[in-house]
Amino acid sequence: MTTSGRLFDTHAHLDDPRFENDLEDVIGRAREAGVERMISIGTNVGTTENAVRIAGGHEGIYASVGLHPHSAAEFSEEHAVRLTEMCSDDNVIAIGEIGLDYYKDRSPREVQRSVFRRMLEIAREVDLPVIVHNRDATDDCLAILKDFRGQIRGVAHCFSGNRAVADRFLDLDFYISFSGTVTFPKTEELAEVARIVPDDRILIETDCPYLAPQAQRGRRNEPAFVKYVAERIAVLRKIDISQAADITMRNAGELFLGKKSR
Ligand SMILES: [Zn+2]
Ligand SMILES: [Zn+2]
Repeated sequence: MTTSGRLFDTHAHLDDPRFENDLEDVIGRAREAGVERMISIGTNVGTTENAVRIAGGHEGIYASVGLHPHSAAEFSEEHAVRLTEMCSDDNVIAIGEIGLDYYKDRSPREVQRSVFRRMLEIAREVDLPVIVHNRDATDDCLAILKDFRGQIRGVAHCFSGNRAVADRFLDLDFYISFSGTVTFPKTEELAEVARIVPDDRILIETDCPYLAPQAQRGRRNEPAFVKYVAERIAVLRKIDISQAADITMRNAGELFLGKKSR
């Protein structure tokens, strides 16, 4: 399968140990698949440093700066200072991933909430969009985001909710990003969301190395596979895959590259 459009994988963990031995091959295959841009995601100080380094060495790869809710318990104000400093790097285009995860609960929930707020304050201060991770924490997540309404912009990454949840994020002017989960069978609610999200609010991602799309299920996921997400979005919205590529590329450019045009 090929796409004539150019693709933007807005969420890739390129510094994951599973890419350690063949990252350049992985990036090469992404280019061949038409993936022109990707964001390497930070999840703590160490992975953010890795993401910034990877972005610095590759055209079209950007980095996000953040502390994942799984790592919230390790947060200190020194982290906040270091993460804020890294935002001045030219390749840093977002704060993320940040948010709440009540499914795995790897950090106490009240700590997750306070760190999420602290990260949103940093996003407001440095004026970068946010990449929000929400798992089984929709009400608390939206309540916190509402406190920042009009002061931050961002995306609900790896969206997995229903139409009502999507509407609540859209009401906050958030973008909705679909991963390989939208290609899985028996995900009719998610398919419905992918059909109705407005043209100017939809993004795509892999969240690799996790969540390989159905066509590659069981394998390590990689940015090249974002084409399967684009293909599924195109089928659901009854448009060409090149159109799906174009609208998601344009939206990602507006959200993430608007301030740093290049
Ligand atoms: Zn996530
Ligand atoms: Zn992620």
